[in-house]
Amino acid sequence: MNPPQHVGPQHMSGEEFRRHGHAVIDWIADYIDDVEQYPVESQVAPGDIRALMPTSPPEAPEAFEDILADVDRIVMPGITHWQSPNWFAFFPASSSAPAILGDLVSSGLGVQGMMWSTSPACTEVESVVMDWLVELLGLPEGWRTTDQGGGVLQMSASDSTHTALVVARHLANEAGHTDETLVAYTSGQAHSSIEKGARVSGYGHVRKIDVDDEFALIPAALEATIAADREAGLHPTFVNSSVGTTATTAIDPVKTVGEIARREGLWHHVDAAFAGSAMICPEFRHHQDGLELVDSYVFNPHKWLLTNFDCSAFFVADRKSLLETLSILPAYLRNEATESGAVIDYRDWHVPLGRRFRALKLWFVLRSYGAEGLRAHIRSHVEMAKGFEQKVIDDPRFELYSPTFFSLVCFRHVAGNDVTDTLAEAINATGKVSITRSEIDGDSFIRVAVGSTYTTQEHVDGLWELFDELAPVPAG
Ligand SMILES: *Cc1c(COP(=O)(O)O)cnc(C)c1O
Repeated sequence: MNPPQHVGPQHMSGEEFRRHGHAVIDWIADYIDDVEQYPVESQVAPGDIRALMPTSPPEAPEAFEDILADVDRIVMPGITHWQSPNWFAFFPASSSAPAILGDLVSSGLGVQGMMWSTSPACTEVESVVMDWLVELLGLPEGWRTTDQGGGVLQMSASDSTHTALVVARHLANEAGHTDETLVAYTSGQAHSSIEKGARVSGYGHVRKIDVDDEFALIPAALEATIAADREAGLHPTFVNSSVGTTATTAIDPVKTVGEIARREGLWHHVDAAFAGSAMICPEFRHHQDGLELVDSYVFNPHKWLLTNFDCSAFFVADRKSLLETLSILPAYLRNEATESGAVIDYRDWHVPLGRRFRALKLWFVLRSYGAEGLRAHIRSHVEMAKGFEQKVIDDPRFELYSPTFFSLVCFRHVAGNDVTDTLAEAINATGKVSITRSEIDGDSFIRVAVGSTYTTQEHVDGLWELFDELAPVPAG
């Protein structure tokens, strides 16, 4: 017998893994303790990080200590600190200790949960956690996996919305309508993922419907556009309602849009990517009245429910058409459990085949905080945002730009665009906080999104002090 020509690489021993693993947890714990000390936005220029790295990969193994040390030396300067308590930009990217640990366990198990049979717990824990969300958020009972609907975790709201668009297209195709005639409708304020998803899935047309002065879709404009499209021989297929737009958290009239969708035979999707998390508190649920007239729904626990990216929760009211659209069963994936129909195979619920055990981190979060902890989390952010909003209202230098429905405050300087833009830049240039400048129809405004896990009243007060200090008093 010939000796083997190749021996495998030197793996980290269990003992070494334990030691380095503890060091990594210490590193993360220190980071969370110290995150407030860094300038919130990374200060590097394009190419700065690349310049610190060798152009070729290492040929010989390197010591783990050296790798971790280079996280400090190379990576950290190029990090923008989304977990800073002074993060008020965009929307938050939720994180919490239980979620980090749940994600770590998922990595440790390293399972591939494409089908029930490839790791039954990966599917069943996810189904139960999604059913829990139905109860926690007061979603329609029928959306449980034990009923005719069901929930699945996806990577992003964009993926969830894309999936909904694909199902609606399939139904239209089945009814004999070709892709070029399909029309998707959404408000002019909806997230770009609606248009992108429609483009990717081959819709012939996307219509951006007019909004009212609170940036909500105008149902009469939707109806008129649908009628005109029918007149032109097109096939109205899909309509999106936003519950909490990205720019201002505007809320479309879900019930009225749902009634139009039912009457006209359109698939009705709700994008509640950010604001959906608030529905764990019953007092916000009136904002999405009409869910019984919704076919699919997405919200991102990774935005505002303490669960690290990626974690997007997608629900369908009836899973039949979803499965019909996406089920493909090649011979090598055949198995008894699938054939019996007694199990969920989540690969049929989205585009990818392979899937991580994402539900673990969400399960860890829901159990560690409990519903009462999660409600306290949402309510404290909304309360801090409301307090900030009141200061804006009381200060003659500012005007509110849109209503504060949740924890995003949008406002501008009364002196107009230039002063608003300059102020936003000056606030971020302090390095102490991060806020977002935005613009609708040529009007500049500032977005302050309260939502970072570690933000307290003290941080919001600090932010207000910066505005107070840097905002000029208008002349006259
Ligand atoms: C953030 C956001 C999205 C996109 O979320 P991803 O998970 O990054 O795809 C979609 N819709 C709304 C309303 C959002 O705020």
